[in-house]
Amino acid sequence: MLYNSTRDNAQAVEAACAIAHGISKEGGLFVPQSVPKLTKEDFKALKGMSYVERAKYILGLFLTDFTEQELEYCAKGAYLGSFDNDLPAPLKALDDKVSILELWHGPTCAFKDLALQILPYLLTTSSKKVGDGKKTVILVATSGDTGKAALEGFKDVPGTEIMVFYPNDGVSAMQQLQMNTQKGENVYVCAINGNFDDAQTGVKTIFTNENIKNLLAENNMEFSSANSINWGRLAPQIIYYISSYCDLLDKGEDYLKDGFNVVVPTGNFGNILAAYYARQMGAPIGKLICASNSNNVLSDFLKTGTYNRNRDFYTTISPSMDILISSNLERMLYELTDHNDKQVAAWQDALKNEGKYTVTDDVLSKLKDLFFGGYCSEEETALTIKNVFEKYGYLIDTHTAVAVSVYEDYKAQTGDTRPTVIASTASPYKFANSVLSALGETVPEQEFEAAEKLSSKTATEIPAPISALRTAEIRFSNVCEKDDMNKVVLNHLGIK
Ligand SMILES: *Cc1c(COP(=O)(O)O)cnc(C)c1O
Repeated sequence: MLYNSTRDNAQAVEAACAIAHGISKEGGLFVPQSVPKLTKEDFKALKGMSYVERAKYILGLFLTDFTEQELEYCAKGAYLGSFDNDLPAPLKALDDKVSILELWHGPTCAFKDLALQILPYLLTTSSKKVGDGKKTVILVATSGDTGKAALEGFKDVPGTEIMVFYPNDGVSAMQQLQMNTQKGENVYVCAINGNFDDAQTGVKTIFTNENIKNLLAENNMEFSSANSINWGRLAPQIIYYISSYCDLLDKGEDYLKDGFNVVVPTGNFGNILAAYYARQMGAPIGKLICASNSNNVLSDFLKTGTYNRNRDFYTTISPSMDILISSNLERMLYELTDHNDKQVAAWQDALKNEGKYTVTDDVLSKLKDLFFGGYCSEEETALTIKNVFEKYGYLIDTHTAVAVSVYEDYKAQTGDTRPTVIASTASPYKFANSVLSALGETVPEQEFEAAEKLSSKTATEIPAPISALRTAEIRFSNVCEKDDMNKVVLNHLGIK
């Protein structure tokens, strides 16, 4: 299996190369040349497997340059011992028709663990294959969830060093504590005096600085990225959609005779794109329901065919979806134009230069067949948390609530009552304040008191990784100016 760049079909590389480099040199994203298909027999076999075995099987179809041993090493390393009961993606029935795919049983309580627990294994295996033997330095700019999940994934992974930068006043107290108490010998965390964009720009500037790149090379090191433009982060997300179908098969063939819908609370379009690939592989997925918060650039796009980022940015109670440029949409456009690299490159240029582009009628009609896009307000998000808890006794976080709310709209508009899987992307305890307030309670000032109040009010347990923070040692309290990030990086790496 070879991978092409979305902006240049002449680039054709094996999976290891796509993963080791993360992004193609002209800025495109790597996409597999074809999508492997699963037969009825394959699904039957997968149904009888553990999550680790399913992961190995599915990744093997995409990463054809990995050996059996390598796939097993990666899948076991990632998914054994890090998730509650070794079940990374349990499916919980909400009622007869709707199931919740709980993706927050990992070490940082958000769905990013499903990919960031395995990425370090995929990346180090890939680097060895590509054969440069260099130490990989992972640089991350984060607004919260990605930084912690990447730190947990890469901690003490031989041959890697990870450095995370976050905006000093831009993350929640719980998220800051999660990062500053991070254990491991190869980790480094620093706040910057600036916002998330400053952190992101700082990291990008370091990535593209030839001088710094050469200094690293002289010291046998190279940079890489842990964000979702890397195929090594996307491929692992396909596993849990296939896995959820295998679990649904327990309800019998008749239950699934018309297929099932998938609802995803969406930001960067990575998670829902993985569901699309699961559909292309043969999982009988009907509609892909793309749920946004007030930053509704995607739901507008799916209705009109015009992607327009020139709009106000809102800070919401579902902060991991506060995003106006959904990077992985580029892969979707490449798929829907039958791999038209020139066309995709032109749209991305327009996005960069004018902040918008409009797709062809043909692409729009394909998008409308596949997707339903909707969004919900802050009030609707909060109300949904309350309603779901009162109706089902089931507690959801602010991101999952956006998905549930948009799904209700979808059902009301279309009358489609097929079985449905809703991706639940974070533990409610990561956003205890907002969840508590949605339930109509007053919110204590102290984060842990909020978590405890939520726990006693709802009779649910605080996840162990969050209670452990209370007594965890603070290891990092670094703060730097945004223009000093390059010095901080070189200093930390011991390069003069
Ligand atoms: C990152 C994140 C999302 C958005 O996922 P994308 O793959 O970027 O679309 C949704 N919910 C939570 C809790 C997240 O951390």
